[in-house]
Amino acid sequence: MRDENAATGAGAGPLVMKFGGTSVQNAEAIGRLSAIVRGHATRRPVVVVSALSKVTDELSALARLADGGEVTREMEGRVSALVDRHGREADRLARGEALDRVHAELAAALREIPLLLEMMAMHPGTRRPLRDELLSWGERLSSHIVAAALRTDGLPSRWVDARQCIRTSEEHGRAEPDLDATRAACRAALLPAVDAGEVPVTGGFIGAAANGATTTLGRGGSDFSATLVGASLDAAEIQIWTDVSGFMTADPRVVGAARSIPRLTYDEAAELAYFGAKVLHPRTLHPAVEGGIPVRVCNSMAPDSASTLIDAAGAGPGAAGIKAVAHKNGITIVRITSARMLGASGFLRAIFEAFDRYGIAVDVVATSEVSVSLTVDDTERLERAVRDLRALGQVDVEGGYAIVCVVGEALRTTPGIAARVFGAMSRINVALISQGASGINLTFAVHEHDAAPAVRLLHAECLQPGSN
Ligand code: ADP
Ligand code: ASP
Ligand code: MG
Repeated sequence: MRDENAATGAGAGPLVMKFGGTSVQNAEAIGRLSAIVRGHATRRPVVVVSALSKVTDELSALARLADGGEVTREMEGRVSALVDRHGREADRLARGEALDRVHAELAAALREIPLLLEMMAMHPGTRRPLRDELLSWGERLSSHIVAAALRTDGLPSRWVDARQCIRTSEEHGRAEPDLDATRAACRAALLPAVDAGEVPVTGGFIGAAANGATTTLGRGGSDFSATLVGASLDAAEIQIWTDVSGFMTADPRVVGAARSIPRLTYDEAAELAYFGAKVLHPRTLHPAVEGGIPVRVCNSMAPDSASTLIDAAGAGPGAAGIKAVAHKNGITIVRITSARMLGASGFLRAIFEAFDRYGIAVDVVATSEVSVSLTVDDTERLERAVRDLRALGQVDVEGGYAIVCVVGEALRTTPGIAARVFGAMSRINVALISQGASGINLTFAVHEHDAAPAVRLLHAECLQPGSN
């Protein structure tokens, strides 16, 4: 529920500004961030930042190496290099007491990261909580550096520990936020600073469980942190600053001709994010929808270039055509075949219960008279679900697939569009097809090596100039 007095008498709600890994990758990027935040200083900004680019990858790689049972010299060298990288960038950005604080934090990282790795190597059972503690250093260090840079640039910023803001379950690696506790915690930790005219800076991706343990929201989760903070503060707007000009008609790394999309509805953007558009973490939009808060995706490399506004209205009823194509690799198809299925009520329910029991999300479902095929992207717990499914029929599991998905409110409203989509896919070997319950997506499971060609074909058919 939206609290009408949320803005604490100071006018509109704050502006939450999230900057991703490439937007804080070095001193130049953080310099641009600082200019962008200063440009919005009158809108009561709250800044959420990712780790410097590739830092979470490196910390994850070190965690995997620690699984080998020892911390080698090479690993220690990699920790020093990681901490040094942060020190070098901080030295180029901050001065005085602000810089001293960063260096104190870097010294703590240099002490604690090797200790965490030692503990992970020695006690495999406690790995998951320790891994989250280890990964949290990425956002802890980046947020300290950004707070120091802003202060050095004359903005009264205040570093806030994300673990004081985002309250979660204890599911390490993919924690679920406790929305009520997060709302109360964010308001207590952030609003006094905002009301005092300061700019709070906090790390995305990380939170804390009720027992105080550090948790993480899943890879790419800083977008989700931003909307959790935004919804908690009844923000006027949530801005996601990244390295491309907003949400585009396809991943620009796959389709050179991809264009920026000026407006999307929450539903369209959520479907695209869920089906692989990496520009937003799949869970990002939910908190914003609940609060009716607009989300804007902007380019930190070119702040005046195109951006995408995502809200309930989108481009409005006149907007024809498909909005974008997304794809997601690493998909596994599970097929359950049973002659007993014919007419047997409760069969589908039993199948979904088996996935639900282990918290596995099913993306696409297709049924025939004697079989049900589904796609999943989480194979970690799949084996246990498959064991249960075997009680229902023959189960075949096949990896190496991708999902390709076209999204647009127009799929629901414009006759003939689906036929064009199928036409574009006629040269691709399709394993499964489904129309999402929302009616605004058409999804295909294809072999991974066909995903990029399929995206390009669909883009050329439905999104290139002249195709709408
Ligand atoms: P950040 O570090 O800012 O969170 P990400 O790398 O997570 O950035 O997301 C931005 C990237 O998402 C882009 O560089 C782009 O390659 C990819 N991407 C995939 N699909 C889309 C899309 N439809 N629109 C824009 N970017 C997309
Ligand atoms: N740093 C985390 C990651 O790389 C979270 C994020 O950047 O959104 O996954
Ligand atoms: Mg991201």
